[in-house]
Amino acid sequence: MSEATRLTVLAGPTAVGKGTVTAYLREHHPEIWISVSATTRPRRPGEIDGVHYHFVSDAEFDRMIADEELLEWAVVHKAARYGTPRGPVAEALRAGRPALLEIDLQGARQVRERMPEARFVFLAPPSWEELVRRLVGRGTESEAERERRLETARAELAAEAEFDATVVNHTIPAAAEELVELMRS
Ligand code: 5GP
Repeated sequence: MSEATRLTVLAGPTAVGKGTVTAYLREHHPEIWISVSATTRPRRPGEIDGVHYHFVSDAEFDRMIADEELLEWAVVHKAARYGTPRGPVAEALRAGRPALLEIDLQGARQVRERMPEARFVFLAPPSWEELVRRLVGRGTESEAERERRLETARAELAAEAEFDATVVNHTIPAAAEELVELMRS
């Protein structure tokens, strides 16, 4: 098995629960290494710098791009930049750990260009109605922000066919365990 076949990329529409699935894995599957992204968005209450994200300034993000420290990066929701630090991913794979990137679709496409042997998993909502309910239910965004996220989600749902596998997020534990099974296969 080549190193990159141990790399799994999890993507899917906004509010489908990627972050919650990842949080579940962090708690229940410490054997899986989960990439910590850099982002220029402000920290939300409860988020820890270096655990959930590396919260960086625009200038620092520019520097990371210039120094080619990012495996991929994208502007998400037309609001902030997010990127995957390249070094830690390489290190985890070298150490033989199963590694997971939880990123948006634009980022997943960039990783596929660079590491086509990686495994690409699409996390899908049980239905569009359920996705809208979750998006509105989260309540952390303004009306305009929600509209923007829905618009992104519509386009993202159409991308499922580009992926190697789909996991439907009926419940967080079931979806997470299905993902772990895929990562073992
Ligand atoms: P949030 O701001 O809600 O934490 O995340 C917003 C979106 O950014 C999510 O869809 C998440 O998958 C995506 N994201 C998080 N980290 C990265 C990254 O390193 N690269 C890319 N391309 N997207 C990311």
